[in-house]
Amino acid sequence: MTDHVLQKSKTQISQFSRKGVLFVISAPSGTGKSTLIHKLRNRHPALNFSISCTTRSPRQGERHGADYFFLDKKEFLARREKGYFAEWAEVHGNYYGTPLDHVEKLHAQGQDLLFDIDVQGALQLQKSLPQTVSVFLFPPSLDELKKRLLTRGTETEQTLQKRLHGARNEIAQAHHFDYHIINDDLEEAARLLEAVYLAQTVKKDLLPDIAALLMRDCEKKENG
Ligand code: ADP
Ligand code: 5GP
Repeated sequence: MTDHVLQKSKTQISQFSRKGVLFVISAPSGTGKSTLIHKLRNRHPALNFSISCTTRSPRQGERHGADYFFLDKKEFLARREKGYFAEWAEVHGNYYGTPLDHVEKLHAQGQDLLFDIDVQGALQLQKSLPQTVSVFLFPPSLDELKKRLLTRGTETEQTLQKRLHGARNEIAQAHHFDYHIINDDLEEAARLLEAVYLAQTVKKDLLPDIAALLMRDCEKKENG
């Protein structure tokens, strides 16, 4: 009978009551953030991805509305003027921003939301949404970071240098993040990232008062 009460409450909690996790992930470009996010979302499809707007050109295989909303600079700046973004930043010479309406809508529904944003954006979100939980991913070394960017084959010599230079500045800000994970062995990093995410889903701040729910059920039963 006790099991039944717990089960009922658990269902109530998972279906109706938990607040959404706001999960921010930042890393120097080339660290493996997109790879790790892909793995995490494959295992947890309910973890919504905050699709950013950007003025950079699409890479091969990237789709408008799935990876990014690709906008020209004029359109991006017009939206920025209208307060369309929860945060925005200029990164490696392009603009990037998080649409506010999507965040507000999903958060109000209690859904989990993952942000793949740079350090400047993460710091802005920490201020406007203090309940965010943030992870900084490190490459095992700067040499390995360069190797990964070269292997990915998406950069020109100029953009490669910009990204490597940016990496040092980003790493210098890592202390602002709640969790630090080194992406050396991919599977190990994926496990750690998942563990951090799962821990957030059972954080008491996001849950209803389980003790009160259980007591109420018991009292109801006792009083017939
Ligand atoms: P980011 O999104 O951080 O810019 P990507 O996910 O695009 O980085 O990864 C950059 C490159 O590094 C890709 O070619 C990816 O396959 C590779 N990579 C990712 N994680 C690892 C890892 N742990 N070990 C070796 N290569 C990796
Ligand atoms: P990339 O061009 O490699 O997709 O992304 C470059 C950097 O921009 C990454 O660090 C990525 O996290 C960041 N980025 C992507 N979207 C946003 C966003 O909406 N806001 C901010 N501030 N950074 C973003």
